[in-house]
Amino acid sequence: MVVQGELFVIGNWKMHLTQQAATDLASTISDPKTSHDAVTIGIAPSFVALAAAKASRKSDDILIGGQDCYPVDEGAYTGSVSAAMLRDAGCSFVICGHSERRTHQQETSHFVREKAESAIKAGLHVILCVGENAGFREHGSYLSFVETQLRESLPASATRENLTVAYEPIWAIGTGKHASRTDIEEMHDHLKAVLHELLGEKIPRIIYGGSVKPNNALEIMSLPVVDGVLVGGASLDAAAFNAILDAAYQITSNQTRDDGRSKAAQ
Ligand code: PEP
Repeated sequence: MVVQGELFVIGNWKMHLTQQAATDLASTISDPKTSHDAVTIGIAPSFVALAAAKASRKSDDILIGGQDCYPVDEGAYTGSVSAAMLRDAGCSFVICGHSERRTHQQETSHFVREKAESAIKAGLHVILCVGENAGFREHGSYLSFVETQLRESLPASATRENLTVAYEPIWAIGTGKHASRTDIEEMHDHLKAVLHELLGEKIPRIIYGGSVKPNNALEIMSLPVVDGVLVGGASLDAAAFNAILDAAYQITSNQTRDDGRSKAAQ
């Protein structure tokens, strides 16, 4: 099992960084072995910077992941990269269904499920993204919208070992406006109930993404319903990403969450 940490912290580098810049950034991410193994760290560089990031990270325990994959092993799909190819390139995980792909590439939940299925088949851990836009939030139908997205995107073979759900409200991505504690708790509780109904007792982790920064990471990850964070903008800055990792180390060292419950006991 590649993802063992109590908290899973992932940097999504999106379409940023040359190979040299990826080398420089990867080499400055703090080494989990010298800190705390209760935190699993992942970084998702662009396809062309995967090798550079992989070679320059301080430890093999910093997992390398793809930002997307195509749901066929190989063939005439110009411009696409398969899950099997990502695995061959040294990836341990892949992000599927990020809202930027659902929006700009018109990816449907059905297609996202095919990607996730192919990734699990290739031995990758899937980060399955779901989240509502501002319209659904304002209309009040956000819970049912995200529930439908999850039901339609989730592969039948999903388990806690091979998949993590990332709740990423679109209105919070790249805006500097993160979801409130109440918003996060309400959605994570709802999604946990849906996962429980679909998969039984042992449900996948649910991490939060959307303007996670050093100044809010501790508060967000202290919530017992939050199993980690997916970080965009702040993951491009070594000091900011390391500060977010420090918050995760602090939480897992104390073994308590906001409500006093032990995270490990849940
Ligand atoms: C993301 O793109 O997954 C993300 C959460 O971005 P940001 O942290 O910049 O909001």
